[in-house]
Formats: sequence, structure tokens, C-alpha cells
Amino acid sequence: MLPWVVRRTRLPLLSSRCVDCRSESATTGEGRFRVNANGKLLDVWLLVRCVSCDRTSKLNVHERAPVGSFDPADLERYHANDPELVVSTLLDPLFARRNRVALDWQGAWRLDTPSWLDEGWPVRVEVVFDDPVPVRPERLIAQGLGLSRSEVLRRVKCDIPLRRTTSTGFTFTVLPGD
Ligand SMILES: [Zn+2]
Repeated sequence: MLPWVVRRTRLPLLSSRCVDCRSESATTGEGRFRVNANGKLLDVWLLVRCVSCDRTSKLNVHERAPVGSFDPADLERYHANDPELVVSTLLDPLFARRNRVALDWQGAWRLDTPSWLDEGWPVRVEVVFDDPVPVRPERLIAQGLGLSRSEVLRRVKCDIPLRRTTSTGFTFTVLPGD
């Protein structure tokens, strides 16, 4: 079975409307957290910046959480703007939902495919996601094989619906052309 890997090339942008300039795109930039103590409660935000006017806004990571509920090592990572924590926070689906933003993956990922010329027919492919990039199987397969989408629909047998967006692994089989 041929392995295909979907992986990010940079952090995705965020689709969220700027209250100043009405732009709909924001970036985490280098990635900065802000931690604010209020008695024994902590707020943690991830700061994002409008790509058009640079206005900074705060997206909620933890809201009024008891200090004691944090692992001290994790708190230290927030204070240090730990890059891995920025990534895992941004890619957490609950974070996007809570803050009513969507991730904009355009141009932020790639598909790695090995050569498949010497494989016999039918060709079996396993798609693995290193990062939770939402893709439509139909488009991904067309891109990876250099086929038109109508040819994909004709020649590909897939274990999930071809037109439904997914970011979890799947496999498919390519039948020979006419
Ligand atoms: Zn703006």
C-alpha cells in the first residue's frame, strides 16, 4: 500500500472578522499567550493579529480556571510562549469552536506522495494526516494522482465518501484507466 502524508507547512490563518477594518483574516504570528491572574483564578488567551491592520485581539484558551487546576509545567509553557503549545492550542477544535473562529488552511499544507509508476494495478493508497487539515478526498486524490475529478469518481474506490471533508486517515483503491 502506498503511503500519502498530509502535513502542514506553517500555521493556518484564522477566519475572524476584524472589528476595526472588517478584514476576515488573522494570524497568530510568532505565537504569544497572555496569562492574567485574578485572585486564585487564571485567564489564558492566545493573541492574534489582523493581517490587514495589525489590530491585536485575544482568543480565550482558559477562562477563570482555578490556579490549582494547572500543571505548573504547563503554566510555565504559557508564560514562555512555547511554540508547540501554540500549535496544539490553535489546532484544538474546541478552541476554534469556543472562540467562533475557523482555521484557514489555504496554502498552509502539502501532500507528500511517493512515486507510484512501478506499482501494479489496482493501486492501493493509505492517506495519513500528520496535522488535522480538512480536505475533500475527491480533490486530494485528483491532485495526488494528476487526474480530473470526474476520472477520480470513475476510477477510485474509497472507504469513506469522496465528497465529504475529512481530516482523519482513509484508504482508497485506483482502478486502471480504459
Ligand atoms: Zn483589521
